[in-house]
Amino acid sequence: MTEERGRVLVVEDDEKSARLMCELFSLRGFDPVTAGTGAEAVTLAARLQPRLILMDIQLPDTDGSTVLRTLRGNPDTAEIPVVAVTAFAMTGDRERLLADGFDGYLSKPIDIGTLVDEMAALMRGGEDHLR
Ligand code: MN
Repeated sequence: MTEERGRVLVVEDDEKSARLMCELFSLRGFDPVTAGTGAEAVTLAARLQPRLILMDIQLPDTDGSTVLRTLRGNPDTAEIPVVAVTAFAMTGDRERLLADGFDGYLSKPIDIGTLVDEMAALMRGGEDHLR
């Protein structure tokens, strides 16, 4: 199926992880774009209007929750679903990040099935055929 599912923004400073996530998204028919810093993420999100953002929590210039607050404070990006991605699954992480306002939560290494489930839940409007 070559259906275009839309643009997603992968915010990830680790190049290997970013490349892997982009490959997974591409295989599923999405158009992935990467940002390596929080500042770049804010700029690209406003310019490209992705339908979903995957946000690494540990970034070189800031942290993912701070970037999320910036995105939510801008009417151009406030409505874009943002899924947090963390390197370490710590007890309480999920609750804390969801309390920060993230729409979803994934821990590395990213499991493609979980990723697709999260995306299907967040992308309203007939994406239940993602698998
Ligand atoms: Mn990182």
